[in-house]
Amino acid sequence: MKKRYIYIGVFLVSIVGLAIVQYQYLRIGLSLAKVQFDSKIDRVGTLVANSLKEENKLTYLIGEGIRRDTSFFKVSVDSLQNVGNMFLDDFIRDQLLNQGIESDFTYTLYTKDSSYVLHSTNSFEGMDNVDSYPIDLEGYFPQLLGKPTVLDLKFENLHNYFLAKLNGLTFPSILFLIGICATIFWVLRTYYWQSNVITTTNEFINNLTHELKTPVFSIGLATKILDESANEKQKPVLGIIRQQVGRLSGHIEKVLELASLESGKSVITLTKVDFKPYLENLCAEFKTLVAIENGIFNYDLAGENYVLNAEVFHLENAINNILDNAKKYSPEPEIHLKAYKDGHRLIVEVTDNGIGISKEESQRVFRKFYRVTNGDLHSVKGYGLGLSYVKKVIKKHGGKVQMSSEEKKGTKFRLTIPILS
Ligand code: ADP
Repeated sequence: MKKRYIYIGVFLVSIVGLAIVQYQYLRIGLSLAKVQFDSKIDRVGTLVANSLKEENKLTYLIGEGIRRDTSFFKVSVDSLQNVGNMFLDDFIRDQLLNQGIESDFTYTLYTKDSSYVLHSTNSFEGMDNVDSYPIDLEGYFPQLLGKPTVLDLKFENLHNYFLAKLNGLTFPSILFLIGICATIFWVLRTYYWQSNVITTTNEFINNLTHELKTPVFSIGLATKILDESANEKQKPVLGIIRQQVGRLSGHIEKVLELASLESGKSVITLTKVDFKPYLENLCAEFKTLVAIENGIFNYDLAGENYVLNAEVFHLENAINNILDNAKKYSPEPEIHLKAYKDGHRLIVEVTDNGIGISKEESQRVFRKFYRVTNGDLHSVKGYGLGLSYVKKVIKKHGGKVQMSSEEKKGTKFRLTIPILS
């Protein structure tokens, strides 16, 4: 399975997991809120029961109302009960508010045999989810009515009340989850769009370089034919054409090699080979090349043979790229190549005395198409493909590339490739 599908799977599982955890937190929050609410109601119950224990203006008024006795107050029974209700309602609301409970409530004051009943003016009759908290009264009311008396407090749909209290947490959680999903969705969309662009660009470069190959080959062939019948005056001109065509086809090959390496259709087939003779040859050729430009190149290949699992063509190209760069980026080249065996590894070190690479640039130079700019100017020509090619080839050989550099002093590349003992 592709890595990106694994990551998408992990992301989806994480988001669903996070949603479940949030839901569980919400459930725990609701249970805790209910426990807290119950303990507050207990406190209210005790306070209310204590206040209604003694005879006072409030209990007397309510007592006369529930008994429907108008002999003292001289008003209608309804008016008497209404006033009693109003005072009792205010009293209970006050006690609840003192405990921080703002929820709507109703109450019923009744004797257990239902011979006396006083309902609050508002009621939740016929509604679902009504929570009831009965308070057993002592003292004045049971004595007055001659029976055990209860004040039953009722609250409607506490679930919604608790949810409203927890909304300060629930809504931000949902919003943050939506935020994370939206961001990841945007990142993924951008990623797919980008990888699409990269694939299209790579295909375009590939096709273009393939198309360039035919005319370059034809020019080379035509130059060769012309060369046979050319006079002394024409020969140097044809020489220049041949040289430039050679350079052009070299560039085309470079781009194609990298493209084939990147396409995933790995063209590298590793075979057991003694790489030392190839490296020796390569160094000898490079020495001649550097000497033409008045540069110095020394090499030192220690040890008997370098038996590697390698694809010689690509490995040679990679080392050539490093040597080429050492020459390109050194105004007065003094280049040294040192190869030696270190346990099960072959180490190839190339040191130059060139312009060097700053610390900030040292990681970027291995990226494809990346070139160090000098005030937007490239004094040395190139495509920014060489080092990215080197890195890919050495990685395919199971090795690694290290680089250390100091600006204006020089650069050292160190290749480590596993050796077959
Ligand atoms: P190119 O040489 O075609 O620009 P490379 O991928 O080979 O591309 O190198 C990337 C960049 O790294 C170059 O543009 C150059 O600035 C820097 N670089 C590479 N090798 C050296 C070196 N030996 N000394 C100084 N700079 C170097």
